Amino acid sequence: MTNQRTLIRGGDILSMSPGEDTVIHGDVLIEGGKIAQVGQDLPSACVDIIDARNCIVLPGFVDTHRHVWQTQLRGVATDWSMFDYSANIRWRYGGCYDPEDAYLGNYVGALEAINAGITTMVDHSHITISPEHSAHALKAFRDSGMRGVWCFGAFRNPDYAAHADPKDALIEGFGPVPASVIDNARHMSATAFQGEDDLLRFGWAANELEFYEPDAITAEIVLARELGAATISMHAGMGAFRSEVRLIPMMNEAGLLGEDMLFVHGGGFTDAELATLAEAGVAVSSTPETEMQMGMGHPVAARVAASGGKPSLGIDIASNFAGDMFAQMRLMLQAERRERGRLLQAENHMPGRLDFTAAQVLRYATVDGARAIGLQDKVGRIAVGLDADLLVIRTDAINMAPVNDHVGAVVLYPNVHDVSMVMVRGKVLKRDGRLVGVDWDTLRERLTASRDRILHRAASIPRAPAEEFLAPFWYFSKDMRQPGAR
Ligand SMILES: [Zn+2]
Repeated sequence: MTNQRTLIRGGDILSMSPGEDTVIHGDVLIEGGKIAQVGQDLPSACVDIIDARNCIVLPGFVDTHRHVWQTQLRGVATDWSMFDYSANIRWRYGGCYDPEDAYLGNYVGALEAINAGITTMVDHSHITISPEHSAHALKAFRDSGMRGVWCFGAFRNPDYAAHADPKDALIEGFGPVPASVIDNARHMSATAFQGEDDLLRFGWAANELEFYEPDAITAEIVLARELGAATISMHAGMGAFRSEVRLIPMMNEAGLLGEDMLFVHGGGFTDAELATLAEAGVAVSSTPETEMQMGMGHPVAARVAASGGKPSLGIDIASNFAGDMFAQMRLMLQAERRERGRLLQAENHMPGRLDFTAAQVLRYATVDGARAIGLQDKVGRIAVGLDADLLVIRTDAINMAPVNDHVGAVVLYPNVHDVSMVMVRGKVLKRDGRLVGVDWDTLRERLTASRDRILHRAASIPRAPAEEFLAPFWYFSKDMRQPGAR
């Protein structure tokens, strides 16, 4: 933690604190990593000054769901369904990473997020093939300076190197979490985190629980808690996928639901199920771009909020989407408005006023995101005493000026290049539009070499075995690519 004093001077401050919807023009003083004062003309002697004139200052974004390790695979999933993604990323490319690849994917992916103003992330890290992979993935996350929850992946990417027949590697991926994986997770949890003061927390990235019987589900949740997971991240409610399995009533009856849980997606959850989650304090991460591409149902964040629950936004698969929160906020905002408009149009009406606002999605991406993972007393707002996880967006570029609505300016207009400064707990990670201490030319060469290695290994693993292995678990017509009637 830095003891340095930093003054962000002369910006338009969006605090995101409940009840403070107005913009304050002034300064933010940071001392010892915390927000010490917010106000006008704060003392600037002997402090590092960040000039925020023509800028908006706001809390760093919170991305509650990403698979950071996939960064080298950008674009491979461009036109993929969830089936294509599952068969090829999870069951093919994921088995082709060595520990250095896991490091580079996570390091560059986390830097990409910081560059875009994301200061807290839940890394659903299912690249934990071996103890070395786990250690490298976490070290990369730590080296980036990111705050967040590093969720140890229960899923086993097939270890093709250890099996002559790819089918054997695939079969090994299903079933209860084996002892070797538990040992790896326990070791990481016990040795790689430094408690409350650590920017990173240990979390659990669950198997796809809708595949499993209640006993196995219970065992996995009990295990995650025994290992001390701060957050249990779980993919579920993915549209019509295995929709006969109603995970939430089952988990509720078993007494498993709790505030340490974060469901991801949830477009297939019923209103009653969302109410159950709200009651139990369970959070939900919506990832609008994946959900819309892959038929996972309407992004659920607004329904979660309406049920009294804990909404948040995530970016999901680095193999397909840009790593910034601006795109997800816009997609969430307009998808929800489109859905409400569609329902009105069915009755031959149009909206006279919009009842879903940019401010709501900006809350999902900041203060609500922090609450979703239990960090609401540390980050997500600009308030005295909170950790200084902040970003500054320039508003004088051709795509930004002039500003007439600050929330609209943050949600609808910026791109990553407008993010000029990013800090986590007072430590400046991006300044004057550039990441601090990153030699991108060298890093890019390493990342590209890693990509080449992964693709070279993947070329020797045919697609057919993984697709044939997975197909019975999915609901498809005779043409495997088309969702079929059940
Ligand atoms: Zn995911």
